[in-house]
Amino acid sequence: MNDITLAPIQPDQPSHLMATYGRQAISFVRGRGAYLYTEDGTEYLDALTGIAVCGLGHAHPVIAEAIAEQAATLVHTSNLFEIPWQTAAAQKLAEVSGMEEIFFSNSGAESNEGAIKIARKFGTQQGVSSPKIIVAEQSFHGRTLATLSATGNKKVQDGFAPLTNDFIRVPFGDIEAIQEAALQHPDIVAILIEPIQGEGGINTAPQGFSYLEEVRTICNQHNWLMMLDEIQTGNGRTGKYFAYQHTNIVPDVLTTAKGLGNGFPVGAVMTQGKAVGLLGPGSHGSTYGGTVLGSRVVYTVIDTIQKENAVENAAVVGRYIVDQLRTQLADKNVQVRGFGMMIGIQLPKDCAELVAIARDQHKLIINVTAGSVVRLLPPINMTQAQADDLLERLVTLINNYL
Ligand SMILES: *Cc1c(COP(=O)(O)O)cnc(C)c1O
Repeated sequence: MNDITLAPIQPDQPSHLMATYGRQAISFVRGRGAYLYTEDGTEYLDALTGIAVCGLGHAHPVIAEAIAEQAATLVHTSNLFEIPWQTAAAQKLAEVSGMEEIFFSNSGAESNEGAIKIARKFGTQQGVSSPKIIVAEQSFHGRTLATLSATGNKKVQDGFAPLTNDFIRVPFGDIEAIQEAALQHPDIVAILIEPIQGEGGINTAPQGFSYLEEVRTICNQHNWLMMLDEIQTGNGRTGKYFAYQHTNIVPDVLTTAKGLGNGFPVGAVMTQGKAVGLLGPGSHGSTYGGTVLGSRVVYTVIDTIQKENAVENAAVVGRYIVDQLRTQLADKNVQVRGFGMMIGIQLPKDCAELVAIARDQHKLIINVTAGSVVRLLPPINMTQAQADDLLERLVTLINNYL
């Protein structure tokens, strides 16, 4: 059907790509489930899944079929018209999240932009002229101007002044710092945090998920919006559909993306309770947001996660991986943390070079974040046998390294 083949890239060929990424000199041409393949057929076990994106694994047959069929039927009409697949996707997402209203976007950063706009609207309606949002140190919320201003990482912000002045920063997990900020800044209207910090190093709060309950209480006391960035932690990643479901609370605003499309670019910002209705007609929009094709993918991804019991699988197999790593690396100076299929191994030293060693010597794709944390984001539907395969490669890698 498609007879276009790419000529091999010559080493001396100039690249027209903007040099924004530090790329590994390898490319994959095919994937299946938890495995990736290069042109010559070499197989790699993928414990990264495109950075928590392909939660159902690569080339999932049900998702592939939905994309192909919808692409051959109708891709896009615009939000000027009713889009039944968008309504159906929203229904599904409401069901798994407990949220009321959903706006579809195309990425994580764009979803967080929506959340920041909702917070500003909420504040403005209460007569706050310059509404402020509390964010955490070591957080990551995206690369647009507002979301990089929210991000707690100087490298992300460097050279992009002026930052927006919406944000007040506190240490992650520190409730007293939030109470202190409340005393100092009468203009606070919301708090935006990740339940587990992904880019920051798979950081869980010292008090665990009860941090979220404490934040909820403070938000209620001060009439702030509680906004959770579940772009990485959502869609089954931590062994619950959304990470806040490890608690009994519900946020007012919730953002997600990454695993929502299993590789198709989609995102969402959701509201419930006092955040409902803040963005009315004409106040927000996105040409590509919730296309017929994108919406069908969202619907199919959620439906498939449900039918495969992938969230429960992530909890059980993720727990097994964490337990095994703790046992098998007990004599090493490492700390294993995380929930479900979002796992970090804190090493006693910087270990960025492990990415290449894992890839070249063990045919294993991992990531290192925050300098010294091996980050594992395997498919949420990874089998026990694949988990054993992962453990064998990983434990050998770390044992040889430390
Ligand atoms: C990846 C990520 C984002 C940004 O998502 P993009 O789709 O790259 O814009 C924001 N927040 C968190 C927690 C993320 O992990």
